[in-house]
Parts: sequence; structure tokens; C-alpha cells
Amino acid sequence: MRIAVVGGGISGLVAAYRLRQALGSAADLVLIERRARIGGILRTGELAGDPVDLGAEAFVGRRPEIPSLMRELGIEDQLVYPAGRRPLIWSGGTSHPLPEGTLMGIPASPEAVTGLVDADTLTRIATEPQRPLHWSPGDDISVAALVGDRFGEQVVHRSVDPLLGGVYAGLANTIGVRAALPTLAAALDGGAPSLTAAIATALPAPSTTPVFGGIRDGYGVLLEALRTAADVKIETETTATELRRTPTGWHLNPVGPVDAVILATPAPVTASLLAEIAPAATELLTGIELASSAVVAMALPADTDLPENSGILVATGEPLRAKAFTLSSRKWPHLASRDVALVRASFGRYGAATPLTWSDEELIAAAREDLVTVTSATIHPLQAVVQRWPGGLPQYAPGHTTRIADLRSATADLPALALAGSYLDGVGVPACAATGTAAAARILDDLSHR
Ligand SMILES: Cc1cc2nc3c(=O)[nH]c(=O)nc-3n(C[C@H](O)[C@H](O)[C@H](O)COP(=O)(O)OP(=O)(O)OC[C@H]3O[C@@H](n4cnc5c(N)ncnc54)[C@H](O)[C@@H]3O)c2cc1C
Repeated sequence: MRIAVVGGGISGLVAAYRLRQALGSAADLVLIERRARIGGILRTGELAGDPVDLGAEAFVGRRPEIPSLMRELGIEDQLVYPAGRRPLIWSGGTSHPLPEGTLMGIPASPEAVTGLVDADTLTRIATEPQRPLHWSPGDDISVAALVGDRFGEQVVHRSVDPLLGGVYAGLANTIGVRAALPTLAAALDGGAPSLTAAIATALPAPSTTPVFGGIRDGYGVLLEALRTAADVKIETETTATELRRTPTGWHLNPVGPVDAVILATPAPVTASLLAEIAPAATELLTGIELASSAVVAMALPADTDLPENSGILVATGEPLRAKAFTLSSRKWPHLASRDVALVRASFGRYGAATPLTWSDEELIAAAREDLVTVTSATIHPLQAVVQRWPGGLPQYAPGHTTRIADLRSATADLPALALAGSYLDGVGVPACAATGTAAAARILDDLSHR
């Protein structure tokens, strides 16, 4: 039994690990990765002598996948939680507390955004339930179209965009309601008479579980544990260039013949590998846009006068280049004890001029200057690391869930082939890990019916 996994990000590594768990030591597993290292968008670098995450730095703690994986892999002692501080929103040249009781920034009442938006907008939110809402079950529109129409543009730009920008590197006008806010879509499908009523239904039940979790020494710890447990032959700097069907399975270039294959690659790569085999799937995948981003991780003197908040999210339309700052030493107790203060500046929103072309010096200067603006602190980075993520985040545009359902239909009859990755069921690390598990399950099921 020879199985190939293409792509060494979290999706591919989890898939390989699940295959090994199910098939035992006899299976011949090979994972090919185009780059010189595994991890994809998970990358732990070093700053001021200690590990620091330069891609994802957290995961949704209310989802089970990552804590479960960490327990299975025996690294649960690495599981950490944030201090519970909240971020600020930088809007109108000043900082505001992040609204409470919102669904991805969409308020359940005017009180939630008082101070952040003007009086007309507050009245508009208060009277929204009196205006008829037109929504048919199955509809999908951009988050901006829905929220802008019901609550006004200020709510979109000042409350929703900063949160969506953090997750998708997208804006409310390019992200669809159904994929980004499934509980809201369900409430609207269920006949909620207003957006206010739908949000009240869609808000998660209060919970004492921390919203986020993290890994003490960075995602690199999880990657290494997965690599070891998967016991998979990893070939880095190896690019999959062609996939063909054979009478007994697949021929993957440059691996050769395999019984089964998992494509855990970004949508455009998956599209090109499926071009000959499943043109309909390729067309669907080609329609998924990507957003690029960059992270500047900075070590500052420990006594830098940073706000007592977990971060600062920037509203759209502000004359800043960074879209968000994570005040890592404030956010994470395990980082607070380091000798330096750690801050991550994030750049890049879908459709906006990309900072990928800026030099490291330009990105670091922009991060420093914008941090001075939003904190009024004296900022002297002791060290800074720049990481660019070209095309790192797929955009979940309106219609994305239908597109993915159609993609699954278009690939359903391809035996012993499964897809995994961040374009399927959510961009977060837990959702990606879940696609890896599901892809392995599909392969195991197909092979068992041979
Ligand atoms: C800046 C940033 C911050 C983020 N922060 C968070 C966060 O805090 N929490 C969270 O949950 N999520 C976060 N995310 C999202 C999350 O990190 C990603 O969605 C997830 O890591 C993607 O994993 P993946 O394995 O699906 O894809 P990738 O990590 O992109 O892996 C795909 C792999 O396939 C390889 N590949 C591509 N083509 C080929 C080929 N032809 N042959 C062989 N290999 C190939 C690539 O080199 C890559 O290694 C963040 C994303 C970004 C960009």
C-alpha cells in the first residue's frame, strides 16, 4: 500500500498522521512539499533568542481539533491560553474598546457599538427590526451588503472589517455570509424577521472555555510531533506537477505510482493537478481568490509603554498601512515573562495594494511608525523579523459553500483521491486539521472497498 500526500501544511500533515494511525507501520506513506520546510503557513521562527510564530499564532479554543491532537501526540503541556485581555479598535484616529456581544463585529444592539459609530448609525441599528428583511433560505450575499444595508457602513468599516480582516485578510465586501457566519445564515434561513433578531439567535451561548488557544513554544512543536507520529517519508523541495489515473490507482509526478493520493495544496495548485482528471473541479477551484499578507514580528524593550490590551485592530479607511497589531506579550501570559515585549504587525487585505512588494526595511518602518501612531509610545525595535505569505488565505466569497459542495460532487467519483486544505471548510488551523482527518477517512474508506 503506497499513499502520497501532496502539501506539508497542517492539512497534509494531519492527513498523513491519520493514515499512519489507521494503517500501521506497513503502509508506505510519502509526503511531498514544494518548499524546503514543512508547515506551510505555520512557521515558528526566532526572535530575541526565543521561538515566535510568524504565521498562525493561535487557534479557536472552542473547537476540539487542536487540543485533541496535542493530547494524542503527548504535547498537551504545550497548550496555553490567552490572558483574557481584549483588543482595541483604531478608528477615527483614536482607539476604542472592541465591541462586546457581537458576532464577528455585527452588534446585537446599538449599545454594543456606542462610541465607535455615530448617533445616526445607533438609531439605524435600534430601528432595524422595524424594517422588513428580504432573505430567502439559501441566499448568500457579502457580509458588507447585509450589514451595510441593515446597520450602515460605519458598522461594516469600524466593527466587522477589522475582525474579518484578521481571519481572512479579506473585507466584509468580499466575504460571504454563509461561509463566514454559518450560524447567522441558519438564523436568516430559519425566518429571523430582522438582522438584530438573527444575530441574537446566532450568537454563541456564553461559555467559560477560552476563545483561543496557543502553543507555548510555537506551532513548530505541533509540526514536529506530527512529523514523528506520522512516520512519513517527507520529500521537501519536491513539487507535484502531474496526476494521472492508472488501472490500479494514480501516477503522481515525481513520486510515481501510488494506490491513493491526498491533495492538501492551495486551491490553484489543486486546480492544476486536477485539470485533466476533473475539469469541472478545476473550474470551481479556479474561482477561489487568494489574499496575500505579511507579518512583522518585533522585539521591543520590555518596559515599552504598550496598552494593556491583547491587540489593536485597524478600521478600514484609516491612514495606516498595518491592518492589526497583536500585542503578544500582553495577549499571552507565557510570553509576558520574556525579557522583551513582543508585537506582531499584520499587513495585507484582499484587493488592497499588497505590501508583498515592499522591502523588509519598508515593512519594518511601516510597522514601527503605525505602532507609534496607535499607542503614542516610543517604539525602538531591538530586532524584527519579516514573513511574507503570498496567496496565503483563500477568500470565502458569496456562494463559497455552494462552490465547495459542487467541488465535492465533481470529485466524488474519483477513487482513492481526497482533497484537504484551507479553501474547503474554514481557513483556521482547526478547520484545516479537520479536512486532513476527513481526507484520510475518505481514502481509508475507498481502499477498504477495493
Ligand atoms: C498571516 C496569517 C496568520 C494566520 N493566523 C491564524 C491563526 O492565528 N489561527 C488560525 O487558526 N489560522 C490562522 N491562519 C490560517 C492558517 O494558518 C492557514 O489557513 C493554515 O495553516 C493552512 O494550512 P494548509 O495545510 O491547508 O495550507 P498551507 O499551509 O498553505 O500548506 C499547503 C502546502 O502545500 C505546499 N505545496 C503547494 N503546491 C505544491 C506542489 N505542487 N507540490 C508540493 N507541495 C506543494 C505549500 O508549499 C504548502 O506548504 C493564518 C494565516 C495567515 C496567512
